[in-house]
Amino acid sequence: MAHSLSQLISNASRMDDYDPDAMPVEKARLFIKQFLNPVDETEVLPIRESIGRILASNILSSINVPNYDNSAMDGYAFNAADININQTTKLIIIGTVLAGKTFDKKVALGQCVRIMTGGMMPEGTDTVVMQERIKVDGDYITFTETPKPKMNVRYAGEDLQVGQSVLTTGHLMQAADLGLTASLGISEIKVYRRLKVAFFSTGDELASLGENLKIGQVYDSNRYTLYGMLSRLGIEIIDMGAISDDPELLECTLLSAAKQADVVITSGGVSVGEADYMKLLLAKHGQVMFWKISMKPGRPLAYGKVDNAHYFGLPGNPVAVMVTFYQFVREALLVLMGQTNPAPLPIFNVICTENIRKQTGRTEFQRGILFSDTDGTWKVKPTGAQGSAILSSMSLANCFIVLDEAVGNLDAGSLVAVQVLHGMV
Ligand code: AMP
Ligand code: MG
Repeated sequence: MAHSLSQLISNASRMDDYDPDAMPVEKARLFIKQFLNPVDETEVLPIRESIGRILASNILSSINVPNYDNSAMDGYAFNAADININQTTKLIIIGTVLAGKTFDKKVALGQCVRIMTGGMMPEGTDTVVMQERIKVDGDYITFTETPKPKMNVRYAGEDLQVGQSVLTTGHLMQAADLGLTASLGISEIKVYRRLKVAFFSTGDELASLGENLKIGQVYDSNRYTLYGMLSRLGIEIIDMGAISDDPELLECTLLSAAKQADVVITSGGVSVGEADYMKLLLAKHGQVMFWKISMKPGRPLAYGKVDNAHYFGLPGNPVAVMVTFYQFVREALLVLMGQTNPAPLPIFNVICTENIRKQTGRTEFQRGILFSDTDGTWKVKPTGAQGSAILSSMSLANCFIVLDEAVGNLDAGSLVAVQVLHGMV
């Protein structure tokens, strides 16, 4: 793997339409994808603790779910198959079936039982009519409309059948999956171990929280955004701090990060052409590609390996960190966590209610607000100023407005693609 990455780096300039100074977004994604080798260690967890983790074995159903034919309604059960039922039919009630209880009598033709939702269908019954569709007259019922045979019955195995594949290795466990495994009586499952990600910020101008801001300093916000985005993915986080632009300090932090973690993420110091130490260090210790992506924000980006760790060098600008994380890092991390074919963030088209300024030749990820308009349809508007240092635009946004390379300025009322971030940022 590392060998082919180094080959790729040394041969990159000879590849067809490879231009590190004008890398299309999709091409950079594909480059990264070919080097992602998922973790292979696993652990066994109680199902509740598996939320957000990736399944490391296939789950087969050892039982039928439901396990027995049962009623989907509160009503009356009887046999409709063998008699011609109509509104003049009278059935005598011979008992009641509650959910979780058995009914040991056989129900003969002309008889019925009162049955609750989830109650086991007694022998001799195949149909349930909901209680709102019958009239009770003493011990008898009659129908207010002609019932359809076999209605309102949930059959054994209708959800899951014995031996059926339920969930497969590589599946991201979500709330429904916890319930689904519980419905099979499974209390523990095997998942991949958590992915370890170490990160640090770089820059002489960075102050850490708790320090007083000196002239020319900014507080390090990238470590907090990264912390938030990584926590959402259930990752084990190793925060290596804000490191000043000091070659020795950077070198020892980078090597220590690569030793401890599966993935190292840095922010700042990867601008191509900049006299930054990170680039020199990465050339010395890693096999790393430096790109100028044809996108805004997020132009400089580095990807490669430092020892055995995957390395992502994100730009320093606070919005660019988030945009590049969502466009390149998030999906890569999910693959490394063991997820099979993670779904990209959903994209769909909606009308934008304001003019958009945009240069052709690069993909822009403008921050947008999806909102329900007075006519009841969902539309989008930009958050306002779109500078890559305006982090408040990310706080306001619930989506990116994704404008492809070919797109230029757009008038209000144009259809635009949006990538939903709600619950992600
Ligand atoms: P760089 O990529 O290192 O040239 O940084 C680009 C811009 O992002 C500069 O204005 C930096 O001050 C700013 N920046 C870099 N790292 C951080 C950080 N961790 N928190 C906030 N701003 C940052
Ligand atoms: Mg810097």
